[in-house]
Amino acid sequence: MKFQLKRLWFQILTFFSVNLGAIGLRTGFCYPLFYCHACPAATSACPLRAMEKSVYKGSSALDQLLYPILILGFFGTVTGRAICGWACPIGLLQRATSGPARKLKNYSIVKKLGRYRFEPYLRYTKYFMLIGFVFITAAYFGFMFTDICPIGVLTGTIPIIILEPYKFVPSSFFWPAIAIFILFIILIFIIERGWCRYFCPIGAFLAPFNKVSMLHIDVDQEKCVHCNLCAIECPMGIDVANMYRDPECILCGKCVNVCPRDAIAYGRF
Ligand code: SF4
Ligand code: SF4
Ligand code: SF4
Repeated sequence: MKFQLKRLWFQILTFFSVNLGAIGLRTGFCYPLFYCHACPAATSACPLRAMEKSVYKGSSALDQLLYPILILGFFGTVTGRAICGWACPIGLLQRATSGPARKLKNYSIVKKLGRYRFEPYLRYTKYFMLIGFVFITAAYFGFMFTDICPIGVLTGTIPIIILEPYKFVPSSFFWPAIAIFILFIILIFIIERGWCRYFCPIGAFLAPFNKVSMLHIDVDQEKCVHCNLCAIECPMGIDVANMYRDPECILCGKCVNVCPRDAIAYGRF
């Protein structure tokens, strides 16, 4: 079976495994990926929600904070950001929308942004989301990222409205969250993996682990002829031939498959 097809099957299987609550299986653990615990079918809890609640308005529930950090840290240390490329349902969703995003590439904002040097700096927005909205505003103002989270609308609010409407109670952030959700949908159709590149706090948490993770992507400079096929194929817009343990890499392996010189491979340790 072709490698990218295997990855697709793995993503689909993970999607079902994060929804085992539909058959009554709830683990009490946190996901190491992005999915809303409010989904009626959720198997586990959202790690961002657990982090926010642990610092909410000055609370110092360190056990609650350690829990998602250890789970994300474990996967980050072993596989880097492979959770994004292989397991996260929001990654799967963006894989599905990558076709239109690629077609629009020549006309889209990303091409215009790419002409300017600040595009790489936009990618730091996700770190701001993690530190600013998940920790600081939750701790000092009680305003949490998950109050306006578009993934929460997609995987929590919408399934509740459809499956259990009698349980739905709109929060005071309902309409801002809907507006952000609409922007999220537009974003993932016009920029390939736009949410993962610029905004996802879980991606921000996992990204630095690429620098030290046991599993990573290696490029053999001696074999490379700089044909640029890998960069064209890369869903995260990385200059693959010149990268070294790039924090943006989601270890999807598309560059490995496309390189005509076999210059790219998964490295271990
Ligand atoms: S960056 Fe976030 S949304 Fe994207 S695949 Fe990773 S965890 Fe999921
Ligand atoms: S596809 Fe292979 S040969 Fe071409 S630029 Fe990338 S690493 Fe180099
Ligand atoms: S560098 Fe290769 S493995 Fe990493 S995101 Fe790009 S295509 Fe996927």
